[in-house]
Amino acid sequence: MSTGIVYAPALAHEKNGHPECSARLSHILPFLEKTGVLASLTPLEAVPATAAQLAQVHDQALIRHVQRVSQAGGGLLDHGDTYATAESYDLARLAAGAGVTAVDAIMRGEVQNGFVLARPPGHHAERRRVSGFCLFNNVAIAARHAQRAHGAQRVLIVDFDVHHGNGTQDIFYQDDSVLFVSIHLFIPRLFYPGTGSKRETGLEQGEGFTLNVPLPPYVGDTGYGRIFQELIRPKAAAFQPDIILVSAGFDAHWRDPLAMAGLSLTGYAQIGRALAQLAAELCHGRILFILEGGYEIDVLSHGILNLFYTLLGQDTIVDPYGPMPQTEPDISSLVAGLKEAHLIY
Ligand SMILES: [Zn+2]
Repeated sequence: MSTGIVYAPALAHEKNGHPECSARLSHILPFLEKTGVLASLTPLEAVPATAAQLAQVHDQALIRHVQRVSQAGGGLLDHGDTYATAESYDLARLAAGAGVTAVDAIMRGEVQNGFVLARPPGHHAERRRVSGFCLFNNVAIAARHAQRAHGAQRVLIVDFDVHHGNGTQDIFYQDDSVLFVSIHLFIPRLFYPGTGSKRETGLEQGEGFTLNVPLPPYVGDTGYGRIFQELIRPKAAAFQPDIILVSAGFDAHWRDPLAMAGLSLTGYAQIGRALAQLAAELCHGRILFILEGGYEIDVLSHGILNLFYTLLGQDTIVDPYGPMPQTEPDISSLVAGLKEAHLIY
């Protein structure tokens, strides 16, 4: 089994004091080297996404907006906290291209699976709007590339970042060839981005091809495990994907400063195993993790390490922080309601 790694840390995409910073990734290679994992991985070189690849999921106006702000020396791209530096247009194209590179390697059978460690992240970037620290939607561009360049009929995207993947949902909302599943903390008007209710299930041809799992605070390993086994597994099996792409955010860890979900590193590793198992059962093991959020840097490093162990077929889990201190809420009624709404039995 061989596992690809694409590394594009975007050191020049940086804003003073911003949580989405290059330190999130700049220490990861020495860390992976120290654990001995790096030597087992197949390095893949990112090339910038082409204009045509960006245009498969974004309007020209968005692409030009990012380019213009960058070329003017940088600044804020929206009314929130999504920023660009003079280098960000090129670096965001490189982050998107990193996903394309990895999809190429997996679909050609050069590696079985992989992990894209690139930034800026992508899952909040909509067709026409940047948001939530995201410039171009890396996972959406990778999904379209799998379809257009490699003939994948159906792509499953699972987003376990603690924030709703509103951008990915927006891009594929009317599309029945991409099943989008997002598990996220949902507190309307209080927690970003505020979308992703259980009633958002897709539109027209895409009806039923968006599965949102909106969580109350402090759902931990047990609740996440139930969601994967009782909702995502049967939904994915019915869909029969040709490849699984994962928007992998590590901000659902209980120590993360931006959220209040309750996953542990062990819980994350178990999700990774469940997804790798699904890929083995449904699509010849073809699975690609693409980094999204995760702002507690040591947690992020360990979460990435554990997913590499999983991709390499190893049982090792490293969890220096243990489970969250709070008690988990019972999510039985949420699970039952979603089963009913999505006809999952
Ligand atoms: Zn996030």
